[in-house]
Amino acid sequence: MIIVLRQDASPREIADLESWLHDHGTVTTVIRGEERSVIAVIGAIHFSGKELESHSVVLEVLRISQPYKIASRESGFAPQVKIGNVLVGGPKFLVMAGPCAVESREILLETARRLSEMGVTVLRGGAFKPRTSPYSFQGLGEEGLKLLAEAREETGMLVVTEVMTADKVDLVARYADILQVGARNMQNFDLLKAVAEVDRPVILKRGLAATIDEWLMGAEYILGRNQKVILCERGIRTFETKTRNTLDLNAVPVLKELTHLPVIVDPSHGTGVRRYVLPMSLASMGAGADGLLIEVHPDPDHALSDGAQSLTFAELQRLLKALQSMAPVVGRELELSWRHPEIATSSASPKTQVVYQGEPGAFSETAALAFFGDVKPVGVPAFPNVFEKVASGESAYGVVPIENSLAGSINQNYDLLLEFDLSIVGEVKLRVSHNLLANRGVREKDIKKLYGHPQALAQCDRFLRLHPDWTVYQTYDTAGSVKMIKEQEASDAAAIASLQAAKIYDVDVLAEAIEDNPQNYTRFVVIAKEPRVHDRCDKTSVVFTTPNKPGALFAVLQLIANHEVNLVKLESRPIPGRPWEYMFYMDWEGNIESPNVSAVLGVLPECTETLKVLGCYPSA
Ligand code: PEP
Ligand code: MN
Repeated sequence: MIIVLRQDASPREIADLESWLHDHGTVTTVIRGEERSVIAVIGAIHFSGKELESHSVVLEVLRISQPYKIASRESGFAPQVKIGNVLVGGPKFLVMAGPCAVESREILLETARRLSEMGVTVLRGGAFKPRTSPYSFQGLGEEGLKLLAEAREETGMLVVTEVMTADKVDLVARYADILQVGARNMQNFDLLKAVAEVDRPVILKRGLAATIDEWLMGAEYILGRNQKVILCERGIRTFETKTRNTLDLNAVPVLKELTHLPVIVDPSHGTGVRRYVLPMSLASMGAGADGLLIEVHPDPDHALSDGAQSLTFAELQRLLKALQSMAPVVGRELELSWRHPEIATSSASPKTQVVYQGEPGAFSETAALAFFGDVKPVGVPAFPNVFEKVASGESAYGVVPIENSLAGSINQNYDLLLEFDLSIVGEVKLRVSHNLLANRGVREKDIKKLYGHPQALAQCDRFLRLHPDWTVYQTYDTAGSVKMIKEQEASDAAAIASLQAAKIYDVDVLAEAIEDNPQNYTRFVVIAKEPRVHDRCDKTSVVFTTPNKPGALFAVLQLIANHEVNLVKLESRPIPGRPWEYMFYMDWEGNIESPNVSAVLGVLPECTETLKVLGCYPSA
């Protein structure tokens, strides 16, 4: 039973209620939270709810049928654990990564720096290692903890590390931001009681042969005193031998039903095989996990522990990109702190950092957040406004869509790139999923009008053809369409937008994922006033016109081919005021300062009339 207390209950009143409960033969734990205080009552209940409610401090009595009380979803605790600035269990999907073990200062710091550059905010690394063989590397102990603290100091990352015994809890808590209780210790009850006593979030890994109920009972040991518990599925022992463990992703939705505790997945130990980590990470996100714990090593083949399941940096980067594409589809946002270097170092202070076209909840806003991380993008009504704000210096960056994998280019933005003297400094690819949204209570059969951005309408063409009776209105923005039907309290209208917009404007989702093809991606470019070329830039965009004579474009293409520059996109647009003449937009692989690309740019003026470099930036 959970007794929810009035938030203004005095310690005296609570103590009185507790002693009344003790007199009735129960055991109690008081949990005072910022938003909610409760008494968890364990034992046979020989009194009525009425008797209890007569105590003035009692707000509500919750009878919990599960053997675990505080871990139970019915207990009503907030489904989130705060780690640093991140709420795990909310819309953010948290990736924690690092080596299995802290091996040396060089390896740990190199890993921390590389991960931090990729935007990873939590560094893992075992200082005390539970190894199956006593002859294997056992970890550096306190020396390892000191190195983790040094890595945190240098990069600002949070640090998670395993504590194996109750007597080391205080020591580990002195250095770590998050404590990990390993699979082999899930039922080490003394350890569980000890981590309950420190003010640190605890990642409780699932035991190698533990049922979900046993796992939750393990969590219950901690929760009486420390409510910051995160469950980590890391694979269980089955008869299967092709993988190190069997990653039980069933556990994720099951836990989501049973408990409010955040659930993360460790696909490294779950599979034991490096090449299975990416697919199982995506599967974890799809299953509803709140984050991942991943092993990474600069040189996995020579790692002192778990090299076979550790990713290289390049593999982690690939994984982060894949997760970033998938996150919006499942209504999540990847928690990455990576920012454009200029944002971190900018001494100028433009009024806003990032502008996009649309309302909060628009895909462009999601793209801006995906690229910049921790900023507050500002919406403006139309695409030219984005360019104007950046050109005038009012905003440091703008984010605009440039092409969609189903509906093609966003021509207006190509034209604006030519019109304004700005530079592309980055790009983001976002998987876009559209949904049919309407005010609460409105059903599909009530709909007569549909509002949507022309691009969104084009991407949902097949779905719309099923509803020829709807009048379709084009709007300036996906999220803006939702805002409009909401403000009008329309009972006969629907809008096409993201699940994020549905959440922001608190409307119903009548149909999910109505785009013609799930392979629906939009590429956005990030624009700034000045070019910014650095060594991570591996893509160059140009626009040019050719003389109006036979073979003109062919000459350009031949030049590019001769210099072995890979052409990744070619787009032609009419030249304003010159009917039937065209300019060409090209994207090339390669840094503008690389020998091949700079050679092409050196000779290209010989066969073009005009040539403008739009930018050189890291490809998404
Ligand atoms: C680890 O995370 O390095 C570890 C030892 O995990 P587990 O307890 O899941 O085996
Ligand atoms: Mn390991």
